[in-house]
Amino acid sequence: MISPLLALHEEQVNTFKEEFDLEAVAINSAHGGCSKELMDTVVSGHYQIVLLSPEMLLSRRFIDNVLRKPEFGARCLSVFIDEAHCVSHWGASFRKQYGRIGIIRAFLPKAAPIVAVSATLTPRVREDIIQKLQIDPENYLFVNIGNDRPGVAQVVRSMQHPMNTYRDLDFMVDTAMTCPADIPLSFLYTDDTKDGAEIVDHLNARVCEEYRARGLVRPYNASMSREYRETVMRLFKAGIIRILVCTDAAGMGCDIANVDLVVQWKAPANMSSWVQRAGRAGRGRGRKGLAVIAGEAAVAVVEAEEGGEDVAERGRRGWYGGKDDHIEPGAEIPLPEITNNTPGEGLYIYIQSTTCRRAVMGKIFGNETVPAVDPSECCDICNAHLFDRTRPSKPVAAVRQQAPKKGLVVPAVRSALYQWRLDIKKSRYSHTAFASQAILDDDTCEKLASIGPIVSLEMLKQHCTVGWLGLKPQRCQRCRGLSQLYRQPDFWLKPALSQLKPTWLKPMCP
Ligand SMILES: [Zn+2]
Repeated sequence: MISPLLALHEEQVNTFKEEFDLEAVAINSAHGGCSKELMDTVVSGHYQIVLLSPEMLLSRRFIDNVLRKPEFGARCLSVFIDEAHCVSHWGASFRKQYGRIGIIRAFLPKAAPIVAVSATLTPRVREDIIQKLQIDPENYLFVNIGNDRPGVAQVVRSMQHPMNTYRDLDFMVDTAMTCPADIPLSFLYTDDTKDGAEIVDHLNARVCEEYRARGLVRPYNASMSREYRETVMRLFKAGIIRILVCTDAAGMGCDIANVDLVVQWKAPANMSSWVQRAGRAGRGRGRKGLAVIAGEAAVAVVEAEEGGEDVAERGRRGWYGGKDDHIEPGAEIPLPEITNNTPGEGLYIYIQSTTCRRAVMGKIFGNETVPAVDPSECCDICNAHLFDRTRPSKPVAAVRQQAPKKGLVVPAVRSALYQWRLDIKKSRYSHTAFASQAILDDDTCEKLASIGPIVSLEMLKQHCTVGWLGLKPQRCQRCRGLSQLYRQPDFWLKPALSQLKPTWLKPMCP
């Protein structure tokens, strides 16, 4: 049995032993590879199931000591290849041995059947596997039980805000949360680890202050240490970490029952990748999941057919406010033909579809039947109200309108600022020649005292271009200065400073 998932080998061996009473063994690098002794035991026929990675299978040692032995070939009943789409998807640059598994044919009796299984076999991938595994195209059995997960609702929406703001993901953490469990247990997939790091920061900043330092949102990708990944995965399974911002390093074979939400940031590479990822939601018995693609606006816009009407507003479905959610009856666009050469295995047709997404998916994978799913829980085309669970936050323009206008200077605030800069000067820079104005100049004090409540760090930064933010604070004097200011009861900066506390002041207090 060939499986790419070393992490699951041990679990699978136990299942074979305990549930099926079979002698099974896993041979992989985590178990010290293949010792001479172990290989002899395999050849002797002691094990009924031998689980291994493609790399181990095609290693010189294994070929010479096991595959080349005629007594092994005679005993081998069948070769079973798990996650067989990898034979086609991988191979060129990543885990090359997956594309070469077909070589083992040379060592096996002609009649030994090869069984290749996968949840995502498009017709093109199927043809590729047949060729790579040297399966006789005239003499094989194809069984398709479908890959639709009726318990997972599907939503595709284009981004409304600039991508680098990540505000289209705001629905994942409701700022009105009161406890960690208010955040649905979620996988967020992004193929770009730099985006991933920024998304972690963005979402974590939305977690209520009480829990912000707990790390409810964590990154997970192949570049991280094994210890980190094991710990994070354990905490995620236990529901302590709520959102895993990850690549495919977290996923394949990840059978976690209580994942509610899978979000894909930017369109994935192809349809198979999407179906694999979406299928990780709602796995527990009777559990419902939601799978969301937050795609680039350009990908989601439906191109108008020649002479057809402008359909750009379809790219705005699911945006804040919900104005463009519904597709007018009769405005559906017929599905283009899906062939082996369709880009992304038909992913873009799926994204731009104006008819049930589940049906499109079934067509792409050649599923014979599409399971009956209540339209209210099917997809955003069947029920546009599903968007209500995935909307981005308010458009920027609406936020700007709430920004306070410059008004009269409030003397109490100005005096407090003057006092604050004096205190800082005294406590921290008493031996230096510069005046307290160098910390915060008069104009800035004036401005801050006249613009009303400062609600965000961004806003504070906008108004403090000199002095204050250029200062490189050390130790805690500055924090003390700020916190004294913070204690001024009617001080307008209070909201801004409360915001500053976690994000800005913390690094200053080693
Ligand atoms: Zn549908």
